[in-house]
Amino acid sequence: MAQEQETLERASAAQEAERLRVLASYAIMDTPPDPVLDGIVRVASRLIGVPIGLVSLLDDHRQWFKARVGLDAEETPRDIAFCDTVVRSGHELVVEDANKDPRFASNPLVAGAPHVRFYIGVPLRVPESQVLGTLCAIDTQPHHVEASALVQLRELANIASSRIVALRNEAALSKSQRELLTHDRFFEHSLDLYCVVSGEGRFLELNPRWSHVLGWPKAEMVGKPFLDFVHPDDLAKTLETWAAVGNHEDVLQFRNRYRKADGSYAWLEWNALAPKPPETTVFASARDVSALVASEDELRQQNGLLSLISESQARFAREGASREWWTYVLQQLLALTGSEYGFIGETGVDAEGKFLRTKSITNIAWDDATRAFYEANAPAGLYFRNLKTLFGVSIDQETRVIANEVASDPRAGGRPHGHPPLLTYAGLPLRDNERMIGMVGLANRPGGYHDDILDPLEPVLVFLGSILKTLRLEDDRMAFVRQLEVATDLQMRVLQHSESGFVALRPDGRVALVNERARELLPEVDALTEGSLLASLEALFPRHDHAAWIDALMALPPGARTSPRRIILPGHAPIEVVGTRLVEADHVNPGVLLAIADLRERDALAESMRVNATLEGRVAQLRQQQTHNELLSECVEYLQGCTTLHEGLELVGRSLERLFPSANVALYGVAGANASMGLIRQAHRFGNHALPEELTAKQCWALRSRRPYGSWSGGHHLPCAHVDHEQDGQNFCVPLFSLDRNVAVFMVGFASDSTHDDAQSHEARLAQFVAMAQSISGALSTIALRESLQRMALTDELTQLPNRRAFAEEVARSLNRARRAGSPFALAMLDIDHFKQVNDRFGHDAGDQVLRDAAAVMRRSLREGDLVARLGGEEFGIFLPDVGAEAAVQRLDRLLSSIRSACMIGGEPVTASIGVVHAAEAESNAPYDTLYRLADQALYRAKHGGRNRVVGAAEPGSGHPPS
Ligand code: GH3
Ligand code: MG
Ligand code: MG
Repeated sequence: MAQEQETLERASAAQEAERLRVLASYAIMDTPPDPVLDGIVRVASRLIGVPIGLVSLLDDHRQWFKARVGLDAEETPRDIAFCDTVVRSGHELVVEDANKDPRFASNPLVAGAPHVRFYIGVPLRVPESQVLGTLCAIDTQPHHVEASALVQLRELANIASSRIVALRNEAALSKSQRELLTHDRFFEHSLDLYCVVSGEGRFLELNPRWSHVLGWPKAEMVGKPFLDFVHPDDLAKTLETWAAVGNHEDVLQFRNRYRKADGSYAWLEWNALAPKPPETTVFASARDVSALVASEDELRQQNGLLSLISESQARFAREGASREWWTYVLQQLLALTGSEYGFIGETGVDAEGKFLRTKSITNIAWDDATRAFYEANAPAGLYFRNLKTLFGVSIDQETRVIANEVASDPRAGGRPHGHPPLLTYAGLPLRDNERMIGMVGLANRPGGYHDDILDPLEPVLVFLGSILKTLRLEDDRMAFVRQLEVATDLQMRVLQHSESGFVALRPDGRVALVNERARELLPEVDALTEGSLLASLEALFPRHDHAAWIDALMALPPGARTSPRRIILPGHAPIEVVGTRLVEADHVNPGVLLAIADLRERDALAESMRVNATLEGRVAQLRQQQTHNELLSECVEYLQGCTTLHEGLELVGRSLERLFPSANVALYGVAGANASMGLIRQAHRFGNHALPEELTAKQCWALRSRRPYGSWSGGHHLPCAHVDHEQDGQNFCVPLFSLDRNVAVFMVGFASDSTHDDAQSHEARLAQFVAMAQSISGALSTIALRESLQRMALTDELTQLPNRRAFAEEVARSLNRARRAGSPFALAMLDIDHFKQVNDRFGHDAGDQVLRDAAAVMRRSLREGDLVARLGGEEFGIFLPDVGAEAAVQRLDRLLSSIRSACMIGGEPVTASIGVVHAAEAESNAPYDTLYRLADQALYRAKHGGRNRVVGAAEPGSGHPPS
């Protein structure tokens, strides 16, 4: 009796050890909460009508709650746990009132806090037939449980068990992906961002580049949902894309913004490989394309600026600075900056002091009275004279003003700025050389104004400044004409301070009037004496022919003006002179008026044209960069679709041809596996290179240094040995890598082009090639990675045989092939006999070794076209094509005897049983699943018949005895 007791205890100790081993293999203890299990405990507690629901897992000394509701404790000691009873017995437990149950009445959890009275626990059993813990519900009140609730609780427990298995599978796959990420030098040093994301969207692993780009320490990202980092505006499209990945669509070239540690955002461009069912982890790579997006934005903006300037110049030439013209320019500025309100106005000083007068202004009236005022006065121009406002700051200090929190800005003078309220504001001075003569005000750009938004407007501001100035000259001239007609003291004073020089000459050549500016420009004017108009003009502007000009002037109708004459005199500033014939009321000819402008100032207009040209140059450059980026992105995208490296390199060659149409290009593929220092062969070329068909790594600096390398005539770089030294120009060699293995190198030679051959262009091009090499290498690595992930997902780790999934797929293909060819085949299941005893007696590791040995025997016995796979546990699948029923049984018999002689444990041969179905024994179109079932049933009969034998599907009995 005592001996029996001891045997029992030993058996249960062994069983518990096995249970703990299986639990450990799930690596689930102390992991973060899982939303699915959380949901299950909530449903369970509601189902039973009690406050507490738990998923409890038991290790050797404690019960730990993977999911809990209604309880704060995370774990309790195992020896007092109700769940321990469930785990030991393997059966569910219902305690309706613990006080009345002798097994539990004295349990500390019942006698003391939390005073448990009611407990129901259902075992959580995993496929290894072990109970890892319970799904349980608890209350401090007694309860009665209906049978129907118990049935539902069992179903919930089944779901919880499958979830626990799924979590393990997910973790196992991501572990191998994670190892790839952490152990591969490529990922460590890659400029691209790589990550593994769990099926529920949490980062499982990230390469170091993430911290570099976003600034978060890795620990701050791992375990967090990736959505936590996505820009709010990108959430919707990101979720949509994530759903597509869940539906097993690969995602290429998707862009969204990720939050950085400093609060700003980086644009990331994603490539995500959809998981193969049943896996759910996603492997994704991303590139930081912030710079690219910025240059696209800049291009868009520059294009906008350019068309604004050229269109407004054209309109100005057509219609002059009409009210519509100013409104057009203002609307364009609002659109370009995304502003809601704005104005353009001129500034200056008059008798009442400093003022701002609008040329165009959006309606910022805030009630009926102001609206009426606006409508009545805005067309002619609104005057602002209060400098204690944000507008005033620009006028007063002649500087750019940015206020991104208008409401609380002390410069706003504490007054509300009308309705609707101004939230953000920028004031931009318009200048005539140094002097401020006008301003542009913009308001309510969402996100506020920053220098990098306003700086690009500078060419437009210069242009508007020059227009204002031109108009002012024109106004001055008109004022002077009026002045002579009705001269008043006040007007004379204004005239004296005009920016233009004015000289009125009487018909006899005497000076009727001259202002300060004219004296500065033409000091000779004070020396003029009576004579003739012609003589005075010749004295003022020697060496110019004036007779014809005077004739033309006199032929004009009164008040009309000549076209401007450019006059350059030694020792004088270049000037422009416009003449007007003056008339008085009684038609007496009072003479002519010369309006003189300093051309150096007018050059501001020319400056705006020059800026324009620079802008055009920049736009052209950006456009080229854009095309380049598009072609490169397209190349990278197509690369993702390539299945072999060869295909990938072919594509790279063609893309290079399109990227550098006027250069000499050659692409060399690295042959063989250990080719990093070996021979490389030319794969693709165009242009007129005189490059060798083959080269060695020694000849090329790029191959030696594993980095893009460039040399140019006149530079300090040593050219590569394969470069033609006689030929001028720039030469670049760019090595390409796939998962750290050098797979190719391409060379691009640009012919000598004196305008581009400088150190700067060389550096810029080299930087371009470095970025290109990185992108292409990233894509080539993805090809390689996809292959290795697929391999991993189809291979059994222990035996390195194909796994269940691979077998099912391959057999399905082989079946089709065999049926098309009308040839016979056999499908067999092999299961090792009494394998559990091998584990129990010799340990799990010895068991593993037997599995590996048996797998090796099977692999050796394979013929062309045969398939062998580990289906799980100690069960293997075998598919034999082109074999008759009898021959199949003979081959399988031989296989069993090979296993017996090759695998020994404890001095005894390992035996196995086989069930086999032959083509002729099933319906002619029976699918794999049906054949599998038939073979499995035969295997069952082989076990019952005494094991160590082969049984056919058609054999009713015990099959062949061992030979
Ligand atoms: P039978 O002759 O009826 O096939 O008996 P058996 O003991 O071989 O079959 P059973 O299905 O009862 O036990 C299979 C055992 O195989 C149970 C499990 O612990 C063990 N096992 C499953 N996978 C592995 C593994 O990867 N390694 C080791 N060492 N054991 C495994
Ligand atoms: Mg077995
Ligand atoms: Mg088995």
